[in-house]
Amino acid sequence: MKKILNYIHGKTSALSKNELAVEDPSTGEEIAKVILSSKEDFKSVLNSSKKSQLEWANTTPLKRSRILSNYKILIEENIDELAKIVSIEHGKTLDDARGSVTRGLEVVEFACGIPHLLKGEFSQNVGANIDSWSIRQPLGICAGITPFNFPAMVPMWMYPIAIACGNSFILKPSEKDPSCSIRLAELFTEAGLPNGVFNVIQGDKEVVDLILESKDISSISFVGSTPVAKYIYEKSAINGKRVQALGGAKNHLVVMPDANLNQAVDGIIGAGYGSAGERCMAISVAVAVGEIADELVNKVQLKAQKLKVAPWTDSESDMGPVISKDHKEKIENYIAVGINEGATLIEDGRNYNIQGYENGYFIGPTLFDNVTKEMTIYKEEIFGPVVCVVRAKDYDEALKLVNEHAYGNGTSIYTSDGEISRHFSTNCQIGMVGINVPIPVPMAFHSFGGWKQSLFGDHSMHGTEGVKFFTKLKTITSRWPKSIQSGPEFVIPTN
Ligand code: NAD
Repeated sequence: MKKILNYIHGKTSALSKNELAVEDPSTGEEIAKVILSSKEDFKSVLNSSKKSQLEWANTTPLKRSRILSNYKILIEENIDELAKIVSIEHGKTLDDARGSVTRGLEVVEFACGIPHLLKGEFSQNVGANIDSWSIRQPLGICAGITPFNFPAMVPMWMYPIAIACGNSFILKPSEKDPSCSIRLAELFTEAGLPNGVFNVIQGDKEVVDLILESKDISSISFVGSTPVAKYIYEKSAINGKRVQALGGAKNHLVVMPDANLNQAVDGIIGAGYGSAGERCMAISVAVAVGEIADELVNKVQLKAQKLKVAPWTDSESDMGPVISKDHKEKIENYIAVGINEGATLIEDGRNYNIQGYENGYFIGPTLFDNVTKEMTIYKEEIFGPVVCVVRAKDYDEALKLVNEHAYGNGTSIYTSDGEISRHFSTNCQIGMVGINVPIPVPMAFHSFGGWKQSLFGDHSMHGTEGVKFFTKLKTITSRWPKSIQSGPEFVIPTN
């Protein structure tokens, strides 16, 4: 049986004897065991990070950038292998997995520009013969805790920028699909990264708590569900750490009566059912405005029926299984609750059997109509292939739905009206907004992050927000001896 270990100081290791099964979601079979790290493993990772950090911080940004450039090339050369590792343990289609690695790679590309990004600011003569400048310095040891749904991309939102800024980084990946993190770390070593600058520690809540309590770790980057994000945020703050904690989502796609309907339907299908709905930017609510609702529901239903649900090994698969037996049962339970609460079940993805994969965690595309804002399936994140259609009489009602929802990750509007789209993008209480774009995930050189219950902390991930998060600001004010006036000053200097 394959064992997935830690990656500490340039090699794999494990001290703990505790393990957890890693499954193939397409078959339900155990395919590996991942170690659940102990206090001793954590000590070892911390020692390694401490040993490497100062020297790395003193390595010039240009040298750091060159190692990142090597890393970029190695990821490109190994992208098929990385995508396959993601698909095997997560279950998503190979093309989707490859796309997600590419989105991570783009953050590495962005981080290659670190000499430019760290240039700082300078003002001459802030006072007579006095100059002042601001620089950004590394935090020290940074840590990241990541979810199962993007085992390459989400860690890569964090560590390339943290490391480019001169920090060392400890990654605690999801215990459900942990292999990709090890391969990503090996490739970084191959690219020339000194040992200990990027370490991976496997485990669950036990090791997360050790990270949060450690006095040696300066910052926490977290992505996962909202209850855990809130816990991470609070516990990190109590322990004096800088924290960015991204949580769950319930993303609405508003379809206006003047929308290009076929485009909107394609948007809902791809964003609702792609990756079996297990994306934080998945569309889980379609808001049909006015008379368009019946036609929209019919068209989404027809397309949903044609989707091919199959394991990643089938190159024609549109969506694979969900991550685990527990998660499958949780989603099926939500579907039952939706029916009980009075929503109209148009497509039922339960009892979805694929010959040869009877024990896999497959759920077919599921579609509810006439969902209302009081229903559980509207309020809570389901994180599966379930799309809820809510009918709104007009634009104002649709905007109110978006704004009153507890989550604020992403949203999208489909319309041909520039004025409406401008009003929507200005007034919606959401972090990432699409106009005729179903999944408005910002590129690496912009920043990713939601509002409300979807993000706790001040900074989004990657882009210039990432650089700010992973560095401390220092401002220096300088005057040389010859220009010093005689005598002490008792009044605050002004110009
Ligand atoms: P999760 O919250 O269960 O786990 C995330 C990480 O936290 C894992 O590494 C896990 O080991 C750890 N963890 C779990 N429970 C913990 C606890 N009680 N104490 C400390 N650590 C704990 O999330 P998941 O199921 O892996 O991922 C799915 C969730 O992530 C969804 O809610 C999805 O919306 C969210 N997500 C959000 C974004 C975003 O950008 N906002 C992106 C991807 C996923």
